[in-house]
Amino acid sequence: MNSFQNVFDAQKSNQFNVGQTTYKERIAKLNALKQAIEVDYKQAIREALYADFKKPFIETDLTEIYPVLGEIKYVSSQLKKWMKRQKVKTPISFLGTSSWYINEPKGVCLIISPWNFPLNLSFGPLVSAIAAGNTVIIKPSEMTPHISEVMREIITKLFPENEITLVQGEVEVSTELLKLPFNHIFFTGSPNVGKVVMEAASKHLTSVTLELGGKSPTVIEASANLQQAATRIAWGKFINNGQTCIAPDYILIDESIKEAFIVAFKDAVELLYEDPKTSKAYARIVNNRHFERLQSHLEDAKSLGAIIELGGRCVSDDNFIEPTVVSKLPEHSSLLQEEIFGPILPIKTYQTIDEALAYINAKEKPLALYIYSENKKQTQYIIDRTRAGSTAVNTNVLQYINHYLPFGGSNNSGIGKAHGIFGFQEFSNMRSVLKQHIKVSVEFLFPPYTDFKQKLVD
Ligand code: NAD
Repeated sequence: MNSFQNVFDAQKSNQFNVGQTTYKERIAKLNALKQAIEVDYKQAIREALYADFKKPFIETDLTEIYPVLGEIKYVSSQLKKWMKRQKVKTPISFLGTSSWYINEPKGVCLIISPWNFPLNLSFGPLVSAIAAGNTVIIKPSEMTPHISEVMREIITKLFPENEITLVQGEVEVSTELLKLPFNHIFFTGSPNVGKVVMEAASKHLTSVTLELGGKSPTVIEASANLQQAATRIAWGKFINNGQTCIAPDYILIDESIKEAFIVAFKDAVELLYEDPKTSKAYARIVNNRHFERLQSHLEDAKSLGAIIELGGRCVSDDNFIEPTVVSKLPEHSSLLQEEIFGPILPIKTYQTIDEALAYINAKEKPLALYIYSENKKQTQYIIDRTRAGSTAVNTNVLQYINHYLPFGGSNNSGIGKAHGIFGFQEFSNMRSVLKQHIKVSVEFLFPPYTDFKQKLVD
């Protein structure tokens, strides 16, 4: 028997109790979660993430705690409206009926999360799932065990197991969970594992939200404000030590401004981190396996004659990699082929904007595409001729934080959307209801079909 069958069955039996809760009851649950994150466990969360990969406290506050608190606040302010029956118009031929739809809970849901923003990417979707009235099993990443333990404590304290529970473990645990007939799976992780999840979900026709990754390009167009671009890209690239799904993965820059940009970028890195090895603002690579993966990217680049424009130093006992910029990479280098997910930034030049766009469009659709330009027409031209999950202009990463925006990818970078109403809808089924009010209606068209009825239809 599946080792999670009992908890799954218990949640299944409980799903209608949870699903019938009022908006006030759901907000009370969200507020309990808020109290735990904002007050009771705040310091424990910071310390756990520091233990996991030396994540600076301030980055934990900005990228893990505040986004979840912001989501709770926004969802709570809207939930009454979202849970109301949504009336729709009635065509004249259906006179005597009224129609509406309701956002009903999907039922028993599974959230599988990655290690790079473990609290945010577990509790963020959980907020949507609770708001939509579901029961949930959460499976966080095995790579950040300290924060997983704190999250488990919070969930165990706040919720009965037949409503929300958190299970820990490696791939085998995910594999076992994925055999169960969940009503929805919300997965955040790599495109490769996303395919595994989707295949498993197909066995039960379980709906999925897949928040995936890939290579997010940053186009720096000739008119860009270089100093501003350099500072913002350095922040977006090196926050969380480059282990961010929407971090700028590589730069495509007009060749006329490449040298000036590199100078500005070096200044920006100096300004932000001074000495990254001792800086309290610079996190570490999550574990030695990922450290070695990144180190081998650099070795591959060097062996292919690429130029290390900045950084390049790797210290294995600390999983430390300097903020690094690499140029003159051949197309087949691993840095240009694989998602980097670390503090290494390749720079590639282009001669015409169409050449840059052709390069982007030859690859999978990115999760994010960034544009630095002071030229509105050119900016729109780039947006119109590319496809991406999201775009930010003259900045990066911030699009994630605005909960009025849908967040997610497209095809290889994801399926479905998170945050705000979009996350709520992902965990809801829009159930339509049509109600007949008067006795006489379309019955006069029921069989037997006479010539008279045929004429009416004609
Ligand atoms: P991952 O895909 O390796 O793992 C994610 C989760 O899936 C973990 O809980 C892991 O235990 C589980 N898992 C791993 N292999 C599995 C398998 N074969 N079967 C079932 N479950 C399995 O991803 P990761 O390394 O934790 O995170 C990095 C990736 O996630 C990057 O590609 C990044 O771009 C992406 N990401 C996307 C977003 C987003 O919002 N779109 C956010 C963060 C990270």
